[in-house]
Amino acid sequence: MENGFELVKPGEQGWDSGRAAWNLAIEQVPAMVARPGSTDEVAAAVNFARENGLRVAVQAEGHSAGALAGVGEDTLLLKTGRMTGVEVDAESRRVRVGAAAKWRDVSALASPLGLAALSGSSAEVGVVGYTLGGGVGWLARKHGLACNSVLAAEVVTADGQLVRADRETEPDLFWALRGGGGNFGAVTALEFELYPVPELYAGMFAWPWERTADVLHAWRELVPSLPDELSTWARILQVPPLPDIPEPVRGRQLVVVEGAYLGAQEPGFELLRPLRDLGPELDTFAAVPPAVLGQLHMDPEEPVPFAQGGQLLDELPAAAIDAIVEAAGPGSRSPLLSLELRQLGGALRAAPPNAGALATLDQAFLTLGVGMLVDPSMAPAISGQLDVVADALAPWDSGVKFANFIDVPIDARMCYPPETFDRLQEVKRRYDPDDLFRANHPIPSATAVG
Ligand SMILES: Cc1cc2nc3c(=O)[nH]c(=O)nc-3n(C[C@H](O)[C@H](O)[C@H](O)COP(=O)(O)OP(=O)(O)OC[C@H]3O[C@@H](n4cnc5c(N)ncnc54)[C@H](O)[C@@H]3O)c2cc1C
Repeated sequence: MENGFELVKPGEQGWDSGRAAWNLAIEQVPAMVARPGSTDEVAAAVNFARENGLRVAVQAEGHSAGALAGVGEDTLLLKTGRMTGVEVDAESRRVRVGAAAKWRDVSALASPLGLAALSGSSAEVGVVGYTLGGGVGWLARKHGLACNSVLAAEVVTADGQLVRADRETEPDLFWALRGGGGNFGAVTALEFELYPVPELYAGMFAWPWERTADVLHAWRELVPSLPDELSTWARILQVPPLPDIPEPVRGRQLVVVEGAYLGAQEPGFELLRPLRDLGPELDTFAAVPPAVLGQLHMDPEEPVPFAQGGQLLDELPAAAIDAIVEAAGPGSRSPLLSLELRQLGGALRAAPPNAGALATLDQAFLTLGVGMLVDPSMAPAISGQLDVVADALAPWDSGVKFANFIDVPIDARMCYPPETFDRLQEVKRRYDPDDLFRANHPIPSATAVG
Protein backbone atom coordinates (compact mmCIF):
# COMPACT_ATOMS: atom_id res chain seq x y z
CA MET A 1 0.00 0.00 0.00
CA GLU A 2 1.39 3.37 -1.04
CA ASN A 3 -0.27 6.75 -1.60
CA GLY A 4 -3.55 5.32 -0.24
CA PHE A 5 -3.87 2.60 -2.90
CA GLU A 6 -2.08 -0.61 -3.88
CA LEU A 7 0.78 0.24 -6.22
CA VAL A 8 2.95 -2.44 -7.81
CA LYS A 9 6.27 -1.47 -9.39
CA PRO A 10 8.37 -3.51 -11.84
CA GLY A 11 9.92 -6.54 -10.18
CA GLU A 12 7.77 -6.32 -7.06
CA GLN A 13 5.55 -9.15 -5.91
CA GLY A 14 2.37 -9.19 -7.99
CA TRP A 15 3.99 -7.36 -10.93
CA ASP A 16 3.42 -10.08 -13.53
CA SER A 17 -0.13 -10.92 -12.42
CA GLY A 18 -0.95 -7.20 -12.07
CA ARG A 19 0.12 -6.23 -15.58
CA ALA A 20 -1.28 -9.38 -17.29
CA ALA A 21 -4.16 -8.93 -19.72
CA TRP A 22 -7.04 -11.38 -20.15
CA ASN A 23 -5.88 -11.63 -23.76
CA LEU A 24 -2.67 -13.53 -23.04
CA ALA A 25 -1.26 -12.65 -26.47
CA ILE A 26 -0.76 -9.07 -25.30
CA GLU A 27 2.28 -8.11 -23.24
CA GLN A 28 1.73 -4.97 -21.14
CA VAL A 29 4.77 -3.24 -19.62
CA PRO A 30 3.41 -0.14 -17.87
CA ALA A 31 5.38 2.15 -15.56
CA MET A 32 3.43 0.78 -12.58
CA VAL A 33 0.17 -1.00 -11.80
CA ALA A 34 -2.40 0.57 -9.45
CA ARG A 35 -4.96 -1.71 -7.82
CA PRO A 36 -7.45 0.59 -6.08
CA GLY A 37 -10.20 -0.95 -3.99
CA SER A 38 -12.51 2.08 -3.61
CA THR A 39 -13.56 5.29 -5.32
CA ASP A 40 -11.23 7.32 -3.11
CA GLU A 41 -8.35 5.05 -4.06
CA VAL A 42 -9.18 5.45 -7.77
CA ALA A 43 -9.02 9.24 -7.29
CA ALA A 44 -5.69 8.88 -5.45
CA ALA A 45 -4.29 6.74 -8.29
CA VAL A 46 -5.44 9.22 -10.95
CA ASN A 47 -3.87 12.13 -9.00
CA PHE A 48 -0.67 10.12 -8.52
CA ALA A 49 -0.40 9.46 -12.27
CA ARG A 50 -1.07 13.08 -13.24
CA GLU A 51 1.41 14.43 -10.68
CA ASN A 52 4.08 12.00 -11.89
CA GLY A 53 3.65 12.72 -15.59
CA LEU A 54 2.07 9.35 -16.35
CA ARG A 55 -0.99 8.61 -18.46
CA VAL A 56 -3.71 6.30 -17.12
CA ALA A 57 -5.02 3.14 -18.82
CA VAL A 58 -8.04 1.78 -16.95
CA GLN A 59 -8.78 -1.92 -17.26
CA ALA A 60 -10.95 -4.45 -15.51
CA GLU A 61 -9.11 -7.55 -16.74
CA GLY A 62 -7.92 -6.59 -20.20
CA HIS A 63 -10.32 -8.39 -22.55
CA SER A 64 -9.69 -5.57 -25.00
CA ALA A 65 -5.96 -5.15 -24.36
CA GLY A 66 -5.23 -5.88 -28.03
CA ALA A 67 -6.72 -2.55 -29.06
CA LEU A 68 -4.26 -0.74 -26.77
CA ALA A 69 -1.41 -2.62 -28.46
CA GLY A 70 0.49 -2.90 -25.22
CA VAL A 71 0.63 -0.37 -22.41
CA GLY A 72 4.01 1.35 -22.22
CA GLU A 73 6.30 2.95 -19.69
CA ASP A 74 4.55 6.33 -19.90
CA THR A 75 1.38 4.81 -18.45
CA LEU A 76 -0.03 3.81 -15.07
CA LEU A 77 -2.15 0.70 -15.59
CA LEU A 78 -5.16 1.16 -13.31
CA LYS A 79 -6.64 -2.28 -12.71
CA THR A 80 -10.10 -2.07 -11.15
CA GLY A 81 -10.23 -5.82 -10.35
CA ARG A 82 -11.01 -5.37 -6.65
CA MET A 83 -14.17 -3.29 -7.27
CA THR A 84 -16.67 -6.04 -8.06
CA GLY A 85 -19.77 -5.00 -6.09
CA VAL A 86 -23.25 -5.50 -7.59
CA GLU A 87 -26.59 -4.39 -6.12
CA VAL A 88 -29.90 -5.19 -7.79
CA ASP A 89 -33.13 -3.35 -6.99
CA ALA A 90 -35.80 -5.73 -8.27
CA GLU A 91 -38.65 -3.29 -7.91
CA SER A 92 -37.15 -0.51 -10.02
CA ARG A 93 -35.36 -3.08 -12.27
CA ARG A 94 -32.15 -1.19 -11.69
CA VAL A 95 -28.65 -2.50 -11.03
CA ARG A 96 -25.55 -0.73 -9.74
CA VAL A 97 -22.15 -2.29 -10.45
CA GLY A 98 -18.60 -1.53 -9.40
CA ALA A 99 -15.89 -0.91 -11.97
CA ALA A 100 -14.77 -4.53 -12.25
CA ALA A 101 -18.08 -6.40 -12.06
CA LYS A 102 -18.47 -9.07 -14.71
CA TRP A 103 -21.71 -10.05 -16.41
CA ARG A 104 -21.56 -13.26 -14.38
CA ASP A 105 -21.89 -11.20 -11.16
CA VAL A 106 -24.95 -9.39 -12.52
CA SER A 107 -26.77 -12.44 -13.86
CA ALA A 108 -26.17 -14.36 -10.60
CA LEU A 109 -28.46 -11.81 -8.86
CA ALA A 110 -30.78 -10.82 -11.71
CA SER A 111 -31.55 -14.20 -13.28
CA PRO A 112 -33.30 -15.74 -10.24
CA LEU A 113 -35.57 -12.67 -10.27
CA GLY A 114 -36.49 -13.31 -13.93
CA LEU A 115 -34.50 -10.24 -14.99
CA ALA A 116 -31.70 -9.85 -17.53
CA ALA A 117 -29.19 -7.16 -18.44
CA LEU A 118 -28.14 -6.45 -22.03
CA SER A 119 -25.05 -8.62 -21.60
CA GLY A 120 -23.09 -10.18 -24.44
CA SER A 121 -21.88 -13.65 -25.30
CA SER A 122 -19.56 -14.09 -22.32
CA ALA A 123 -20.32 -14.02 -18.61
CA GLU A 124 -16.64 -13.23 -17.97
CA VAL A 125 -16.48 -9.90 -19.80
CA GLY A 126 -16.37 -6.70 -17.72
CA VAL A 127 -19.69 -4.84 -17.53
CA VAL A 128 -18.12 -1.37 -17.66
CA GLY A 129 -15.76 -1.84 -20.64
CA TYR A 130 -18.43 -3.72 -22.61
CA THR A 131 -21.08 -1.08 -21.92
CA LEU A 132 -18.88 1.98 -22.55
CA GLY A 133 -18.08 0.47 -25.96
CA GLY A 134 -21.77 -0.03 -26.86
CA GLY A 135 -22.51 -3.66 -26.04
CA VAL A 136 -24.33 -5.96 -28.47
CA GLY A 137 -25.79 -9.03 -26.81
CA TRP A 138 -28.55 -11.57 -27.05
CA LEU A 139 -31.36 -9.10 -26.28
CA ALA A 140 -30.08 -6.28 -28.52
CA ARG A 141 -32.65 -6.76 -31.28
CA LYS A 142 -35.39 -6.28 -28.71
CA HIS A 143 -33.84 -3.73 -26.33
CA GLY A 144 -30.95 -2.11 -28.22
CA LEU A 145 -27.35 -1.37 -27.27
CA ALA A 146 -26.34 -1.88 -23.64
CA CYS A 147 -24.94 1.66 -23.44
CA ASN A 148 -28.40 3.12 -23.99
CA SER A 149 -29.79 1.34 -20.93
CA VAL A 150 -27.33 3.14 -18.65
CA LEU A 151 -29.06 5.41 -16.13
CA ALA A 152 -26.05 6.92 -14.36
CA ALA A 153 -22.26 6.67 -14.16
CA GLU A 154 -19.83 7.75 -11.46
CA VAL A 155 -16.50 8.81 -12.85
CA VAL A 156 -13.19 10.07 -11.50
CA THR A 157 -12.14 12.66 -14.05
CA ALA A 158 -8.61 13.78 -14.96
CA ASP A 159 -8.54 16.36 -12.14
CA GLY A 160 -9.15 13.59 -9.59
CA GLN A 161 -12.74 14.70 -8.87
CA LEU A 162 -15.63 12.25 -8.57
CA VAL A 163 -18.49 13.22 -10.87
CA ARG A 164 -21.93 11.65 -11.15
CA ALA A 165 -23.27 11.82 -14.69
CA ASP A 166 -26.87 11.19 -15.64
CA ARG A 167 -29.55 12.79 -17.76
CA GLU A 168 -29.78 15.89 -15.58
CA THR A 169 -26.24 16.21 -14.20
CA GLU A 170 -23.23 16.49 -16.51
CA PRO A 171 -25.40 15.53 -19.51
CA ASP A 172 -22.58 15.84 -22.07
CA LEU A 173 -20.33 13.49 -20.13
CA PHE A 174 -23.27 11.13 -19.67
CA TRP A 175 -23.85 11.19 -23.43
CA ALA A 176 -20.17 10.57 -24.26
CA LEU A 177 -19.71 7.67 -21.85
CA ARG A 178 -22.54 5.77 -23.51
CA GLY A 179 -20.65 4.44 -26.52
CA GLY A 180 -17.59 6.70 -26.45
CA GLY A 181 -15.54 4.19 -24.44
CA GLY A 182 -13.16 4.81 -21.55
CA ASN A 183 -11.85 8.13 -22.86
CA PHE A 184 -13.38 10.50 -20.32
CA GLY A 185 -12.33 9.24 -16.90
CA ALA A 186 -12.18 6.21 -14.64
CA VAL A 187 -15.69 4.87 -14.11
CA THR A 188 -16.13 3.70 -10.54
CA ALA A 189 -19.81 2.67 -10.78
CA LEU A 190 -22.50 2.24 -13.42
CA GLU A 191 -26.24 2.04 -12.94
CA PHE A 192 -28.47 0.61 -15.64
CA GLU A 193 -31.78 -0.95 -16.42
CA LEU A 194 -32.66 -4.64 -16.28
CA TYR A 195 -35.38 -6.22 -18.41
CA PRO A 196 -38.05 -8.73 -17.43
CA VAL A 197 -37.49 -12.13 -19.03
CA PRO A 198 -40.37 -14.27 -17.80
CA GLU A 199 -39.73 -16.89 -20.47
CA LEU A 200 -36.65 -17.70 -22.50
CA TYR A 201 -36.12 -20.45 -25.08
CA ALA A 202 -32.47 -20.72 -26.07
CA GLY A 203 -29.85 -23.15 -27.27
CA MET A 204 -27.88 -24.17 -30.33
CA PHE A 205 -28.06 -26.42 -33.35
CA ALA A 206 -24.87 -27.96 -34.73
CA TRP A 207 -24.15 -29.84 -37.95
CA PRO A 208 -20.88 -31.26 -39.32
CA TRP A 209 -19.15 -28.50 -41.22
CA GLU A 210 -19.63 -30.26 -44.54
CA ARG A 211 -23.15 -28.80 -44.23
CA THR A 212 -21.83 -25.21 -43.87
CA ALA A 213 -23.13 -23.88 -47.20
CA ASP A 214 -26.68 -25.23 -46.95
CA VAL A 215 -27.08 -24.29 -43.25
CA LEU A 216 -25.77 -20.74 -43.70
CA HIS A 217 -27.92 -20.19 -46.81
CA ALA A 218 -31.01 -21.50 -44.99
CA TRP A 219 -30.24 -19.28 -41.99
CA ARG A 220 -29.81 -16.23 -44.23
CA GLU A 221 -33.16 -16.90 -45.90
CA LEU A 222 -34.91 -17.38 -42.54
CA VAL A 223 -33.69 -14.42 -40.50
CA PRO A 224 -35.56 -11.57 -42.25
CA SER A 225 -38.83 -13.18 -41.11
CA LEU A 226 -37.84 -13.53 -37.45
CA PRO A 227 -39.30 -11.23 -34.77
CA ASP A 228 -37.07 -8.92 -32.70
CA GLU A 229 -37.68 -11.23 -29.72
CA LEU A 230 -35.50 -13.86 -31.45
CA SER A 231 -31.79 -13.36 -32.00
CA THR A 232 -29.78 -15.95 -33.90
CA TRP A 233 -26.06 -16.03 -34.49
CA ALA A 234 -24.58 -18.42 -37.09
CA ARG A 235 -20.99 -19.54 -36.98
CA ILE A 236 -18.37 -21.78 -38.48
CA LEU A 237 -16.59 -23.40 -35.57
CA GLN A 238 -13.35 -25.37 -35.44
CA VAL A 239 -13.18 -26.47 -31.84
CA PRO A 240 -9.73 -27.29 -30.45
CA PRO A 241 -9.29 -30.78 -28.95
CA LEU A 242 -8.85 -29.47 -25.41
CA PRO A 243 -9.88 -31.69 -22.48
CA ASP A 244 -12.11 -29.10 -20.75
CA ILE A 245 -14.32 -28.67 -23.84
CA PRO A 246 -17.53 -30.77 -23.71
CA GLU A 247 -17.33 -33.98 -25.68
CA PRO A 248 -20.00 -33.43 -28.33
CA VAL A 249 -18.05 -30.51 -29.80
CA ARG A 250 -14.45 -31.17 -28.67
CA GLY A 251 -12.06 -31.25 -31.64
CA ARG A 252 -14.93 -30.97 -34.14
CA GLN A 253 -15.45 -28.81 -37.22
CA LEU A 254 -19.05 -27.63 -37.15
CA VAL A 255 -21.54 -25.17 -38.49
CA VAL A 256 -23.66 -23.84 -35.65
CA VAL A 257 -26.73 -21.64 -35.17
CA GLU A 258 -27.28 -20.33 -31.66
CA GLY A 259 -30.47 -18.57 -30.67
CA ALA A 260 -32.29 -16.87 -27.82
CA TYR A 261 -36.04 -16.27 -27.97
CA LEU A 262 -37.77 -13.99 -25.46
CA GLY A 263 -40.88 -16.11 -25.25
CA ALA A 264 -42.32 -19.55 -24.67
CA GLN A 265 -40.97 -22.83 -25.96
CA GLU A 266 -43.77 -23.61 -28.40
CA PRO A 267 -43.63 -20.47 -30.58
CA GLY A 268 -39.83 -20.52 -30.32
CA PHE A 269 -39.81 -24.08 -31.59
CA GLU A 270 -42.04 -23.11 -34.54
CA LEU A 271 -39.91 -20.10 -35.48
CA LEU A 272 -36.80 -22.27 -35.64
CA ARG A 273 -38.47 -25.16 -37.48
CA PRO A 274 -36.84 -24.42 -40.88
CA LEU A 275 -33.41 -24.92 -39.28
CA ARG A 276 -34.46 -27.97 -37.29
CA ASP A 277 -35.77 -29.47 -40.54
CA LEU A 278 -32.13 -29.50 -41.71
CA GLY A 279 -31.53 -32.29 -39.18
CA PRO A 280 -28.93 -30.89 -36.77
CA GLU A 281 -26.69 -33.44 -35.11
CA LEU A 282 -26.97 -31.48 -31.86
CA ASP A 283 -30.04 -29.57 -30.63
CA THR A 284 -29.79 -28.02 -27.15
CA PHE A 285 -32.77 -25.63 -27.38
CA ALA A 286 -34.80 -25.61 -24.17
CA ALA A 287 -36.64 -23.29 -21.78
CA VAL A 288 -33.82 -21.79 -19.68
CA PRO A 289 -33.21 -19.03 -17.11
CA PRO A 290 -31.54 -15.81 -18.33
CA ALA A 291 -28.16 -16.70 -16.76
CA VAL A 292 -27.72 -19.38 -19.46
CA LEU A 293 -27.13 -16.62 -22.03
CA GLY A 294 -23.66 -16.12 -20.58
CA GLN A 295 -22.65 -19.66 -21.55
CA LEU A 296 -24.61 -20.27 -24.76
CA HIS A 297 -21.78 -19.08 -27.00
CA MET A 298 -19.21 -21.34 -25.28
CA ASP A 299 -16.71 -18.49 -24.80
CA PRO A 300 -13.63 -19.38 -22.76
CA GLU A 301 -13.95 -18.77 -19.02
CA GLU A 302 -10.23 -18.38 -18.35
CA PRO A 303 -7.78 -15.96 -20.01
CA VAL A 304 -6.61 -17.07 -23.47
CA PRO A 305 -4.30 -15.73 -26.19
CA PHE A 306 -6.38 -14.61 -29.18
CA ALA A 307 -6.72 -12.27 -32.14
CA GLN A 308 -10.00 -11.13 -33.63
CA GLY A 309 -11.57 -8.93 -36.27
CA GLY A 310 -15.11 -7.89 -37.08
CA GLN A 311 -17.14 -6.11 -39.72
CA LEU A 312 -20.52 -4.41 -39.87
CA LEU A 313 -22.30 -5.48 -43.05
CA ASP A 314 -25.04 -3.46 -44.75
CA GLU A 315 -26.56 -6.56 -46.28
CA LEU A 316 -26.02 -10.29 -46.57
CA PRO A 317 -26.97 -11.54 -50.03
CA ALA A 318 -26.46 -15.17 -51.04
CA ALA A 319 -23.14 -14.18 -52.65
CA ALA A 320 -21.86 -13.04 -49.22
CA ILE A 321 -22.63 -16.46 -47.76
CA ASP A 322 -20.74 -18.06 -50.67
CA ALA A 323 -17.80 -15.74 -49.91
CA ILE A 324 -17.83 -16.70 -46.21
CA VAL A 325 -17.93 -20.40 -46.95
CA GLU A 326 -15.03 -20.07 -49.37
CA ALA A 327 -13.00 -17.96 -46.91
CA ALA A 328 -13.55 -19.97 -43.73
CA GLY A 329 -15.50 -23.15 -44.49
CA PRO A 330 -14.56 -26.66 -45.64
CA GLY A 331 -11.57 -26.62 -47.96
CA SER A 332 -10.50 -23.11 -46.94
CA ARG A 333 -7.66 -24.29 -44.65
CA SER A 334 -8.76 -21.50 -42.32
CA PRO A 335 -7.08 -21.61 -38.88
CA LEU A 336 -9.88 -19.52 -37.29
CA LEU A 337 -11.56 -21.02 -34.26
CA SER A 338 -14.78 -19.22 -35.09
CA LEU A 339 -16.29 -17.01 -37.72
CA GLU A 340 -19.68 -15.77 -36.66
CA LEU A 341 -22.50 -13.71 -38.09
CA ARG A 342 -24.96 -11.91 -35.81
CA GLN A 343 -28.24 -10.66 -37.20
CA LEU A 344 -28.74 -7.06 -36.03
CA GLY A 345 -31.82 -4.95 -36.83
CA GLY A 346 -34.84 -4.38 -34.60
CA ALA A 347 -34.21 -1.98 -31.74
CA LEU A 348 -30.58 -1.52 -32.85
CA ARG A 349 -31.77 0.53 -35.81
CA ALA A 350 -33.82 3.09 -33.88
CA ALA A 351 -32.15 5.63 -31.60
CA PRO A 352 -33.99 5.65 -28.28
CA PRO A 353 -34.94 9.04 -26.84
CA ASN A 354 -31.94 10.60 -25.11
CA ALA A 355 -29.51 8.07 -26.61
CA GLY A 356 -25.79 8.14 -25.91
CA ALA A 357 -22.95 8.66 -28.38
CA LEU A 358 -23.53 5.25 -29.94
CA ALA A 359 -27.21 5.77 -30.64
CA THR A 360 -27.72 2.91 -33.10
CA LEU A 361 -26.02 0.18 -35.05
CA ASP A 362 -28.08 0.40 -38.19
CA GLN A 363 -26.21 -2.16 -40.24
CA ALA A 364 -27.87 -5.51 -40.93
CA PHE A 365 -25.20 -7.97 -39.69
CA LEU A 366 -22.13 -8.04 -37.48
CA THR A 367 -19.29 -10.49 -38.09
CA LEU A 368 -16.58 -11.66 -35.75
CA GLY A 369 -13.62 -13.88 -36.62
CA VAL A 370 -11.48 -15.23 -33.78
CA GLY A 371 -8.25 -17.21 -33.81
CA MET A 372 -6.51 -18.75 -30.80
CA LEU A 373 -2.80 -17.98 -30.67
CA VAL A 374 -1.93 -21.27 -29.01
CA ASP A 375 1.60 -20.57 -30.18
CA PRO A 376 2.81 -17.01 -31.00
CA SER A 377 4.09 -18.32 -34.34
CA MET A 378 0.44 -18.69 -35.40
CA ALA A 379 -0.08 -14.91 -35.37
CA PRO A 380 0.69 -14.27 -39.07
CA ALA A 381 -1.59 -17.12 -40.20
CA ILE A 382 -4.46 -15.93 -38.00
CA SER A 383 -4.17 -12.26 -38.95
CA GLY A 384 -3.72 -13.27 -42.60
CA GLN A 385 -6.95 -15.29 -42.44
CA LEU A 386 -8.82 -12.42 -40.75
CA ASP A 387 -7.72 -10.30 -43.73
CA VAL A 388 -8.91 -12.98 -46.17
CA VAL A 389 -12.36 -12.89 -44.53
CA ALA A 390 -12.44 -9.08 -44.47
CA ASP A 391 -11.52 -8.94 -48.16
CA ALA A 392 -14.10 -11.59 -49.05
CA LEU A 393 -16.85 -9.54 -47.33
CA ALA A 394 -15.59 -6.14 -48.53
CA PRO A 395 -18.40 -5.66 -51.09
CA TRP A 396 -20.97 -5.63 -48.26
CA ASP A 397 -18.85 -3.98 -45.55
CA SER A 398 -20.42 -0.73 -44.32
CA GLY A 399 -16.99 0.75 -43.56
CA VAL A 400 -18.20 1.47 -40.03
CA LYS A 401 -16.45 -0.30 -37.14
CA PHE A 402 -18.01 -1.61 -33.94
CA ALA A 403 -15.37 -0.74 -31.33
CA ASN A 404 -16.03 -3.69 -29.02
CA PHE A 405 -15.15 -6.18 -31.75
CA ILE A 406 -11.96 -4.45 -32.87
CA ASP A 407 -8.91 -5.61 -30.99
CA VAL A 408 -6.22 -3.79 -32.91
CA PRO A 409 -5.52 -0.05 -32.86
CA ILE A 410 -7.77 1.78 -35.33
CA ASP A 411 -8.75 5.38 -35.96
CA ALA A 412 -11.80 5.78 -33.69
CA ARG A 413 -13.39 8.02 -36.34
CA MET A 414 -14.37 4.78 -38.07
CA CYS A 415 -16.78 3.99 -35.23
CA TYR A 416 -18.96 7.13 -35.36
CA PRO A 417 -20.66 9.55 -37.74
CA PRO A 418 -18.43 12.66 -38.17
CA GLU A 419 -20.67 14.97 -36.08
CA THR A 420 -20.67 12.42 -33.22
CA PHE A 421 -16.89 12.15 -33.31
CA ASP A 422 -16.58 15.96 -33.23
CA ARG A 423 -18.85 16.13 -30.16
CA LEU A 424 -16.91 13.31 -28.46
CA GLN A 425 -13.72 15.30 -29.00
CA GLU A 426 -15.34 18.38 -27.46
CA VAL A 427 -16.36 16.39 -24.39
CA LYS A 428 -12.87 14.92 -24.18
CA ARG A 429 -11.39 18.44 -24.32
CA ARG A 430 -13.68 19.56 -21.50
CA TYR A 431 -13.06 16.62 -19.15
CA ASP A 432 -9.58 15.45 -20.15
CA PRO A 433 -7.83 18.24 -22.11
CA ASP A 434 -4.35 16.76 -21.62
CA ASP A 435 -5.27 13.24 -22.74
CA LEU A 436 -4.53 11.68 -19.36
CA PHE A 437 -6.80 8.71 -20.02
CA ARG A 438 -5.66 6.19 -22.57
CA ALA A 439 -8.69 4.21 -23.74
CA ASN A 440 -8.63 1.09 -25.90
CA HIS A 441 -9.99 3.17 -28.80
CA PRO A 442 -8.60 6.66 -28.16
CA ILE A 443 -10.54 9.82 -28.91
CA PRO A 444 -7.97 12.62 -28.69
CA SER A 445 -9.25 15.91 -27.27
CA ALA A 446 -9.99 18.54 -29.91
CA THR A 447 -7.08 20.55 -28.50
CA ALA A 448 -4.66 17.66 -28.81
CA VAL A 449 -5.37 17.21 -32.52
CA GLY A 450 -5.16 20.95 -33.11
C1 LIG B 1 -14.82 -13.65 -24.93
C2 LIG B 1 -15.34 -12.29 -25.31
C3 LIG B 1 -16.68 -12.13 -25.66
C4 LIG B 1 -17.19 -10.88 -26.00
N1 LIG B 1 -18.51 -10.74 -26.36
C5 LIG B 1 -18.99 -9.52 -26.67
C6 LIG B 1 -20.36 -9.36 -27.05
O1 LIG B 1 -21.14 -10.31 -27.11
N2 LIG B 1 -20.80 -8.11 -27.37
C7 LIG B 1 -19.98 -7.01 -27.28
O2 LIG B 1 -20.45 -5.89 -27.51
N3 LIG B 1 -18.68 -7.14 -26.96
C8 LIG B 1 -18.18 -8.37 -26.66
N4 LIG B 1 -16.86 -8.51 -26.36
C9 LIG B 1 -15.98 -7.35 -26.43
C10 LIG B 1 -15.91 -6.63 -25.10
O3 LIG B 1 -17.12 -5.95 -24.86
C11 LIG B 1 -14.75 -5.62 -25.11
O4 LIG B 1 -13.54 -6.35 -25.22
C12 LIG B 1 -14.75 -4.76 -23.88
O5 LIG B 1 -13.86 -3.67 -24.09
C13 LIG B 1 -14.32 -5.57 -22.68
O6 LIG B 1 -14.36 -4.82 -21.51
P1 LIG B 1 -13.48 -5.33 -20.27
O7 LIG B 1 -13.67 -4.34 -19.20
O8 LIG B 1 -13.79 -6.75 -20.01
O9 LIG B 1 -12.02 -5.26 -20.88
P2 LIG B 1 -10.80 -4.28 -20.55
O10 LIG B 1 -9.77 -4.57 -21.58
O11 LIG B 1 -10.42 -4.40 -19.13
O12 LIG B 1 -11.40 -2.83 -20.81
C14 LIG B 1 -11.63 -2.39 -22.14
C15 LIG B 1 -11.60 -0.90 -22.19
O13 LIG B 1 -12.74 -0.40 -21.51
C16 LIG B 1 -12.41 0.81 -20.84
N5 LIG B 1 -12.67 0.60 -19.43
C17 LIG B 1 -12.79 -0.57 -18.73
N6 LIG B 1 -13.09 -0.32 -17.45
C18 LIG B 1 -13.14 1.01 -17.32
C19 LIG B 1 -13.43 1.90 -16.24
N7 LIG B 1 -13.72 1.46 -15.02
N8 LIG B 1 -13.41 3.23 -16.48
C20 LIG B 1 -13.12 3.73 -17.69
N9 LIG B 1 -12.86 2.94 -18.74
C21 LIG B 1 -12.87 1.61 -18.56
C22 LIG B 1 -10.95 1.11 -21.12
O14 LIG B 1 -10.87 2.03 -22.20
C23 LIG B 1 -10.40 -0.24 -21.53
O15 LIG B 1 -9.30 -0.13 -22.43
C24 LIG B 1 -16.32 -9.75 -26.00
C25 LIG B 1 -14.98 -9.92 -25.68
C26 LIG B 1 -14.48 -11.16 -25.34
C27 LIG B 1 -13.02 -11.30 -25.02
